[in-house]
Amino acid sequence: MPKARTKYCPSCNTQGLRPTSNPNILGCKQCQGLWFEDGSLNHAIAQEHDCIDQYDHELHLGPALRVSERLCIRCRVSMTNYQLLVHYTTEIDCCPACDGVWLDKHEIDQVMHSPKLKQALTDLNQKVSWKSWLFQFLTAMPAEYNVTPQRTPWVTRTLVVLCSLIFGVGVLSPEASEWIFTNLALNSDTHNPAHFVLQLLAYQFVHGGLMHLVGNMYFLWIIGDNLEDALGHGAFLVIYLFAGIMAALAELLLFNTSQGPLLLVGASGAIAALFGLYLVWFRHASLTFMIVIYQKKLAPHWYFLIWSLINIAGMVSGQGGVAWVAHLGGFGLGLLLGYLLKDYVLRKNPLIAMLNQPEAVVRR
Ligand SMILES: [Zn+2]
Ligand SMILES: [Zn+2]
Repeated sequence: MPKARTKYCPSCNTQGLRPTSNPNILGCKQCQGLWFEDGSLNHAIAQEHDCIDQYDHELHLGPALRVSERLCIRCRVSMTNYQLLVHYTTEIDCCPACDGVWLDKHEIDQVMHSPKLKQALTDLNQKVSWKSWLFQFLTAMPAEYNVTPQRTPWVTRTLVVLCSLIFGVGVLSPEASEWIFTNLALNSDTHNPAHFVLQLLAYQFVHGGLMHLVGNMYFLWIIGDNLEDALGHGAFLVIYLFAGIMAALAELLLFNTSQGPLLLVGASGAIAALFGLYLVWFRHASLTFMIVIYQKKLAPHWYFLIWSLINIAGMVSGQGGVAWVAHLGGFGLGLLLGYLLKDYVLRKNPLIAMLNQPEAVVRR
């Protein structure tokens, strides 16, 4: 019986490749890379994504880059380096003769997720359109470019509905409005501890005017859905309410009560904390910024840097009527929580983790 030819790992070059549970896939014990015989990679990707039909025939690769230093384990010819996707710069080795593919260990997840990565990067790299231009020109609100959430953002929607309902009741009935502001707004003169704790939660759902409400709810709507998706419903709600409480306490701490008591309403503090989380976890997302009539997609860190500078300027100039300290305090808390929870969130969300890698190319 002829001795089977030893198959060398294209990466380590010394260790023989071993068969895996799939006869068309060989694995290296030493470097944990995988070899896919012709076509079996597409099949594996299709199985991972329940889309066998779409991925039958070919891997949707980016451009061929150069001749690889590695040899095909079957044909012994040099393989070719391909970029995984047009907008994802991971390089994989493919054999031009037999269509076999070699994946290093760290590339396996990226390749298996490549249909989702491709869709996400198509969404993220959309150019600003006349619709987004007109929207921002008329409303002064940014358009957001981010991946579509997997779960329905029930908490975000409920928060928006609750805030809007409370505002609507106040508009319809002046008595109700007075009751809401007397009992639910945060008042530094409240002496009953239980009532004060209630106000710390309730003030976040009360808004002083239509523009105050619409501005807050719009930002909650566009960034809350992605954050809720990344964190899960319960954790998102807990962080949102906790941030609102801490933002109020920050405002209270620095408030000069000699000019009368502090009366605080609005979701801005909690939403500013969401800005911090968003900046840390969604480096691939974009928010549009408009200078007079020129609209530009900005990375979250640029967008929120500008937002912070406006708030710092407001705080320093002592302009009244806006809780600058609550905004900045909430934002700082969001940044801190964002860094502390980053590993956990990226572990739970492999797609977000891959979009955080330098290999993801986002055009702005
Ligand atoms: Zn190896
Ligand atoms: Zn080959």
